[in-house]
Amino acid sequence: MTREQELLKERLDRIEERIAAACSRSGRDRSEVKIVAVTKYVGADTIGDLLKVGVEHIGENRVQDALPKYEQWGEQGVWHFIGHLQTNKAKEVVGRFSYIHSLDRLSLAREIEKRGEALNLVVPCFLQVNISGEETKFGLSPNDVLAFLRETSNMKHIRIAGLMTMAPHVEDPEEVRPVFRGLREWKERINEWKFPHAEITELSMGMSNDFEVAIEEGATYIRLGSVLVKPD
Ligand SMILES: *Cc1c(COP(=O)(O)O)cnc(C)c1O
Repeated sequence: MTREQELLKERLDRIEERIAAACSRSGRDRSEVKIVAVTKYVGADTIGDLLKVGVEHIGENRVQDALPKYEQWGEQGVWHFIGHLQTNKAKEVVGRFSYIHSLDRLSLAREIEKRGEALNLVVPCFLQVNISGEETKFGLSPNDVLAFLRETSNMKHIRIAGLMTMAPHVEDPEEVRPVFRGLREWKERINEWKFPHAEITELSMGMSNDFEVAIEEGATYIRLGSVLVKPD
C-alpha cells in the first residue's frame, strides 16, 4: 500500500468504529449502512486509492468534474450522482451512474425517463425531499411529493428506490435529528401509498458532520466527503 492508501485506510477504520457504534446504539445491523465516498474534493488518483482500500460506492456532485473520473474508474465501483442535476446534463448521467440521488422535479424526471427509454434501462433514483424547508436547499417540498409520484407513476424507466435529504449545517448534529426522522417518516408514508414505481427501501442521509445521527434514524447510504478524503 502507498502512504496515501494507508492514510485512507486509517480514516476508514475510524469511521467504521463510529458506524458500528451508531448501529449498535440503534439496534441496526452494520450491513444495512453503506458508505458513499464523496470524491468531489479530490482527483481521480484518490478514487483509485479508495477503490483499492475497499470502498465500493463513489459519489460525485458535478457532471463536468465527474466525467473524466468516471472515464478512468467507472468500470470499478458503484457510482452515485448526488448533486443538483441540470436537466440538459441528465443524458451524461443516465447509463453511467447506477443511482441518481437528486431527483427533485418533474422536468428532470421526464428527461431521465426519455434517456432511460433510449438506453432501454430502468434508472434507480432517490427522490430528494427538502425536509428542513431551507430556501437554499434543492429538493421537492414535502407538500408536492404525492403529486410528483402520481405524475411519474407511468414512467417505466424510473424506479424510486429511496429518498434523499440534506440537513442544515449545524454545530450539534442532534439538532438535525428531526430532519432525518422526518425523511424516514416520508418513506413509511410513501410505501403505504403503494405506487408500483416507488417501493422505497433506501434513505440517503447523513454527511461527515452528522452521519451517526442519520444512522440512528435509519440511513442506508451515508455520503461521506471531508471526514474521509479532505486533505487537512
Ligand atoms: C459534498 C457533499 C456531501 C459530503 O459532504 P461532507 O460534509 O464533506 O461529508 C454529501 N452530499 C452531497 C450532496 C454533497 O454535495
